[in-house]
Amino acid sequence: MSGVVGAGLLRPQTHATLQGMFDGLRYPLPSDESQFLLCVRCGGKNRVPLHRALHQPDKARCGRCQSVLLLSPDAPLSVSAELYRHPLDQKATEALEAIPGVSAMLRKVVEVTSERYDRLFNQSSYVRVSDRQFPHLQKLFQKAALRLGLRELPELYVYGSGEVNAYTSGVEKHYVALSSSLCDSLKEPELLAVMAHEMSHIQAKHVLYKTAARLFTFAAGELAKATLGIGQFLLIPLQLALLKWDRCSELTADRGMLLATSDPALSLMVLAKLACGSRRLSEQLSLDDFMQQALLARQAPEENVLDKIYSLMQTASRTHPFPLWRAAELWHFACRGEYLSLIRPRDEDSEPAQEEPGDIRDAETSEPR
Ligand SMILES: [Zn+2]
Ligand SMILES: [Zn+2]
Repeated sequence: MSGVVGAGLLRPQTHATLQGMFDGLRYPLPSDESQFLLCVRCGGKNRVPLHRALHQPDKARCGRCQSVLLLSPDAPLSVSAELYRHPLDQKATEALEAIPGVSAMLRKVVEVTSERYDRLFNQSSYVRVSDRQFPHLQKLFQKAALRLGLRELPELYVYGSGEVNAYTSGVEKHYVALSSSLCDSLKEPELLAVMAHEMSHIQAKHVLYKTAARLFTFAAGELAKATLGIGQFLLIPLQLALLKWDRCSELTADRGMLLATSDPALSLMVLAKLACGSRRLSEQLSLDDFMQQALLARQAPEENVLDKIYSLMQTASRTHPFPLWRAAELWHFACRGEYLSLIRPRDEDSEPAQEEPGDIRDAETSEPR
């Protein structure tokens, strides 16, 4: 199985193509699976073993001109969220925004119920991370922001909780909050991955709807009273559209996590650890078994079944739901989606040569001589 990755060669992923797209997708990858990568510098078409492209991106070099084919994990990306937004996020956003006045209304709801108290609450309850307070966390946070090209560094907090969790809020001034259990359970590169996931919510402009979804989850009853005269008959469709959007927005943020880490196994392990929730058991997790379960589970449910589960589960306090479903989606993005094309070097400094049709070379996989 192989595909071509390069500008102009990507087919937009439509919702229709999502059906059946997991057929034959395996974890770990079969060793003979390869991808074609176009060289940004000379335009040459290179065949690269997919497992190598995914696990050692900075080792793949053009067979013709020796240029790197993929960025090293430390190099800043030039991506906008529009380049990696999941099609289900796009679709759910459109459905949500088709409800008249929804953005202004949710902004008002958030303003009167949450935004006003959030900052005060954080300042008096959460530990603010800085260059002096938990500097290792601050460094990881800055690294994730640099990689994703976030213009402004959000505030970062740690809060005491037994739940392995993180969230992003603050509509006017964004912040990211990590639970103490998350910090205890994850290794540093995994924490960076979670930070990047949260930053992707910011990059994708998810924060207003995300905050509103959390309010609906935690305080639906209170919110019904505070919804500024909107009747219950309007509130329920809005709530369902919002909760569906919330689930789909996670798929986009997971893609941001993978882009920031350039490490599919690490990103999938983070989802496995979120699913597991136990620090002690996390150390024994088998990623291979987790992924086999995830890919099997992904084949089963139809979209409307997931909707039903989610609306039944809406009072649950999980803010990172369906980790297995998300792991399957993320693995698909890495192997069959646009992932590799998004970690190619920028071509602004080089003049790409004309590609000669049919001129396919095997990529070099070592440093140039
Ligand atoms: Zn080349
Ligand atoms: Zn998230």
